[in-house]
Amino acid sequence: MKEGGHRKQGTSPPCAACKLLRRRCGEDCVFAPYFPADEPRKFANVHKVFGASNVNKMLQELPVHQRGDAVSSMVYEANARVRDPVYGCVGAISSLQQQIDALQTQLAMAQAEVVHLRVRHSASHSSSPSSSGSPSSNQVSPRVNNPMFDHMVDHASLGESMWS
Ligand code: ZN
Repeated sequence: MKEGGHRKQGTSPPCAACKLLRRRCGEDCVFAPYFPADEPRKFANVHKVFGASNVNKMLQELPVHQRGDAVSSMVYEANARVRDPVYGCVGAISSLQQQIDALQTQLAMAQAEVVHLRVRHSASHSSSPSSSGSPSSNQVSPRVNNPMFDHMVDHASLGESMWS
């Protein structure tokens, strides 16, 4: 038994989720605001990876103002998982982490060179007695283990440039 497919009032097509699930898209559809009919792929991957009923449940449990962000992150994760079935978005995270490690090493080497040049510079001038001289260089070590970086790693691994 098919229910009348032509509802006069709305005339809007079912959202991408309801279309894929072949169910009626009511006015209270949780998916409709985030999965418009003209973006069918957006829901397809999310459904494949998370399952529609899980997504439904997750969205229902969130306040409305946070659902858009939740959908964005699920879309991101699902797309990454489809593209890379082994590592998913962890692949992106670890590659960013490697970039950070490499850049950290470069930065440490550059800082060490700065220190080295400063020391050479002040040695060639040798004007001031080096009792309490150079303010930023008490140790010349190429490896700078700065705890600040650990926080930066956490932020950078979320890679906001990859959301679109
Ligand atoms: Zn719907």
